[in-house]
This record gives sequence, structure tokens and C-alpha cells, in this order.
Amino acid sequence: MTISAALERIAPSRTTAMTDRALELREAGRDIISLSVGEPDFATPDHVIAAAKAALDAGDTKYTAVPGSARMRAAAALHFERDLGIPVPPRQVIVSAGGKQAIFHALLATLNPGDEVLIPAPWWVSYPEIVRFAGATVVPIGTTPAGGYRITAAQLEAGITPRTRWLLLNSPGNPTGATYPADELKALGAVLARHPEVMVLSDDIYAPLRYTPGAHATLAVECPDLADRILTVSGVSKSHAMTGFRIGVAAGPEWLIQAMGRLQSHSSGNPSSISQAAAIAAFEGPQDFLVSWRERFRTRRDRVVSAINAIPGLYTPTPDGAFYCMIDAAPLLDRFGDDEALCLHLLEHGVAVVAASAFGGQDGFRISFAADEAKLEEAVRRIAAALA
Ligand code: GLU
Repeated sequence: MTISAALERIAPSRTTAMTDRALELREAGRDIISLSVGEPDFATPDHVIAAAKAALDAGDTKYTAVPGSARMRAAAALHFERDLGIPVPPRQVIVSAGGKQAIFHALLATLNPGDEVLIPAPWWVSYPEIVRFAGATVVPIGTTPAGGYRITAAQLEAGITPRTRWLLLNSPGNPTGATYPADELKALGAVLARHPEVMVLSDDIYAPLRYTPGAHATLAVECPDLADRILTVSGVSKSHAMTGFRIGVAAGPEWLIQAMGRLQSHSSGNPSSISQAAAIAAFEGPQDFLVSWRERFRTRRDRVVSAINAIPGLYTPTPDGAFYCMIDAAPLLDRFGDDEALCLHLLEHGVAVVAASAFGGQDGFRISFAADEAKLEEAVRRIAAALA
């Protein structure tokens, strides 16, 4: 037996690979601070844990409907309307094992060989791999720190061909924190209006983690005329510190939600019943703690940005959202060869980070600042010592 041609086209996730490596080293007794994975360090809220326990005690341990239970889909619809401003009936919502699975199903359900997918770079590691797994072609749209890592309407127009099927937008974005204001989304929407065959996947998983003043802007709200070809992805992993529960939600046109459900019925079936109970509590329960969590992330961001920029050879812009810094280390790369070697050197000095090349970037690395303040301070101290 050999592996399939589809699998040959993709590499393992480099964010999860680095995290696994850091765990292995820790288990072997090494002192490693992992800033590799994007995972809030806060404890999952008590009312969410209580709901998961209650579901277990109530024997809520059986299959549910594949796209999520009726109550779960209603709670997800509530989230889309209340938190993102996207009014959507439950039948236009699907619940999956993490946002990652929803994205995987959406792209696999719609792409054919030869199709093109536009992805602003730097990108989240899994986007291009999923596109390649589906047999389609990744078309990167380059962005720069000076441009806030955001694509322009002119770049979008130039990237679209008769083969373009999707634009993937992630705002606030992983790994750069790029956050699109409403007027820029409207400008992108004006281009998309001229290309009715292009769908948009708007990954809004980091919407609660936005540090720029003003409300979160999302394409389905700014360009309601395009709503029938936008899939908006969200979840509880990042907002409610529930990464291990594996619950992501997506809202979009009914035909697409049904197509994703068809695939999900054969890949995993329903998302975990216990996790659904926890996610219902997350969406229906109190949301006020999110404000204080965001403020803690903002404080960490500000400290990390100034500490990193004080290290000779490193530079990071201040991210507008999410909890990552994309750090340029170009002046130091001669010493190491490439960004991967630089990351291995940092790992030797006790800090796990992910090379920029994993994200379609170059000459640097990404850190997650979703770690507690003492760990962040020590990690930056180790990075400075390793590069001195
Ligand atoms: N999205 C997170 C990250 O980029 C989680 C890990 C992953 O699935 O890639 O670190």
C-alpha cells in the first residue's frame, strides 16, 4: 500500500507538529515554553464545564443529528446574529468538529481539479493544504506589514480568473492579526459583485479578539447582496478557551450547508454530543468575561510587541487582532540559513515558535501571545539570549 496522491500533495500541519515536538521535549524533562499553538491559556468558564458534566450525567452520550442538534444549531444561529450581525436561520448553520473541519468540508464539497482559490498570504497553515488536498490550485495574494497585511480591491481584481472558485478571508487574521475595516470589505465586495462565480469563506473565529476601536466588520454584513455566496466560520475554541472541545460553526447558503452535511455524514457524523452541550452553554450563557479576556490579551500584546522590538534583528508590527505576532528576523537569517533552522535554535533555547514559511511568509517566525504573563516574559528573555 502507498499513500494516496491527494495526501502526497499535503504536508502535516506545522503548527501542530511544533506543538507536539514541544510536548515531547517537555515529557523528556526539558523546560520548554510553547508559543507555537494558538490556544488561550485561560480556564474554560465554569458554566461551560458544568454543562458538559450535566450532559454526561443526563446520559446525553448518543448520536445527534449530523449538522448538530436542533438546540445547538439554534444557539449557533443566535451567535451569528448577536455577535457577528449575521441573521441566519438554524437550517443555514452547521456545527462541526472545530472550525477546521467546517472549512475542510466546505472546500472539499465544492472544489474540482483545476479550480483556483485565492488566499491572502501570510495565511493560516491549513488553508492551502486543504485546497491542495481537494485537487485545486492555491493562488496566493501577497500582503505586506506596511499594508497591514491586508489585500486591496485591485489585488483581488487582478487575482480573479475564470477558474477562481473561492476567496479565503480571515479577519482578524492568523498569523498576522490583519483586521479589515468595513470600508475595505465593501471595496472587496464591489469587486466580487462583478464576479458572481466566486464564493467567499470568511473565517471570523478571532472576531472577539480585536484591539482596534469600533465594531467587528464582516463581509456578509457589509455586503448583504453577496450573502448567498459567503460562508462565515466561527466557533468557541478561541473566544471561550474551548480548543479541546472541537466545536466550530459555519453559516452560509442552504445548498452549501447541506453539501457540507452530506460530507460530514460520512467523515465524522455529528460533533461530540458533550461538546455540543458545552458550546450551547458558551453561546447562550454570559458573554461579559470576554471583555476582560480581551483586555488581558491586549496588555500581553503591547508588552510582547515592545519586548520583541527591543531585540536587535527582530521586528514585529502591532497586530490589530487575534493573539499572534508575525516577527521578521531577516537580519539574523544569515546566521541560521533559514527560518526553520532559526526556530530549531530557539527550541534548543527553550522556546517553541513556528517558522514564517509555514504560513506562506518568510524570514521570521510566529509567536502566540495566548500564554500567561510570566511565561511570555521568560520566553522573550530566552529569545533575546538565544539571538544575542
Ligand atoms: N489555529 C491555531 C494555530 O494556528 C491552532 C492550531 C492549528 O490548528 O493550526 O495555532
